[in-house]
Amino acid sequence: MSIVMKPGATKEQLSAVTHKIESKGLKADVSSGEFQTVIGVIGDEKKLDFDQLKSMPGVYDAIRIQVPYRLVSRSYIRRDVVVKVRGVSIGRDHPPVYMCGPCSIESYEQIYRIAKQVKEAGAQVLRGGAYKPRTSVHSFQGLGLDGLKHLRDVGNDLDLPTVTEVRSEVDVEKVAEYADILQIGARNMFNQDLIEATARTHKPILFKRSFGAQIDEYLSFAERIVANGNRNIILCERGITPLGGSFKPQTRFTLDLNAIPVVRRETPFPVIADPSHGTGRRELITPMSRAAIATGAHGLMIEVHDKPQEALSDGAQALLPKELGGIIKTCNLLYKTINESETPFSSDLRNENGQN
Ligand code: PEP
Ligand code: MN
Repeated sequence: MSIVMKPGATKEQLSAVTHKIESKGLKADVSSGEFQTVIGVIGDEKKLDFDQLKSMPGVYDAIRIQVPYRLVSRSYIRRDVVVKVRGVSIGRDHPPVYMCGPCSIESYEQIYRIAKQVKEAGAQVLRGGAYKPRTSVHSFQGLGLDGLKHLRDVGNDLDLPTVTEVRSEVDVEKVAEYADILQIGARNMFNQDLIEATARTHKPILFKRSFGAQIDEYLSFAERIVANGNRNIILCERGITPLGGSFKPQTRFTLDLNAIPVVRRETPFPVIADPSHGTGRRELITPMSRAAIATGAHGLMIEVHDKPQEALSDGAQALLPKELGGIIKTCNLLYKTINESETPFSSDLRNENGQN
């Protein structure tokens, strides 16, 4: 349920409503916009008397939200969210943002070299993993704190905002201190304690869909970020896998292009795509990058390495730096062409009644 207060509602009227919600053991998420204050309800709404709330002084309207992921739905947050990171704006009608860099940070020299090249190619955000989620304990697990320091130093030296994964709840504060955007990876999409602890840093979160998650489940877990007071969410489609198997060897995962317009229509948050993990193969990154932008992605996460054969993780899907510039140029052209066409991206957001 969301409760919309009248434009001139008083503080007392607002607190009477939040009090009513809290007296039943629920939480109220209050957002005060320029013209209106809207209250989202967190918890079991059946405990509340809808008609009574609707008729309280100062209340303009109360709306029942039909989807399970109420706080991330367009019924609750009406305007497209723009996530701002050190001068870079992601979402709404901003041109695509490219977050590029190696899968893993391997040394200061390696991340600096690659960062310089991705910046020259047009990337606006530097990615690199310091805490790597790996299937095998024998694989490279990431440089940890040293990796975070290299990422921050290179980000500062080249004036690039950074994104890196936070793999465990115990690392949240540390990662928040060093990186601009905190990534929650596909394997942790269901980890509610990690999600909530990360949300409470109030830093932008890049929240990846897990490879087995339905869209409803994915958005329900994203809702935990809003429920903890953080609306700086970037959603990321990074490929799905068939139940109990994979489509190897041709592809590692399958980038779910359907999810991009579906998630954009359901939520106001920026949605990006990761064609690197979504395909697992270097030669598929160019076509799938184009496809993701054409379906409405607000940006791309692309893994880049200048010596893929020596990469400590995900070498097979690492794009060469010289290939990145071409992808970015084509994707920007595609974005512009579609946005200026008779059926721009905003037309994909209409519901069955033709309304936005
Ligand atoms: C990554 O971005 O390095 C990563 C491990 O991604 P995912 O969680 O999508 O596998
Ligand atoms: Mn990777």
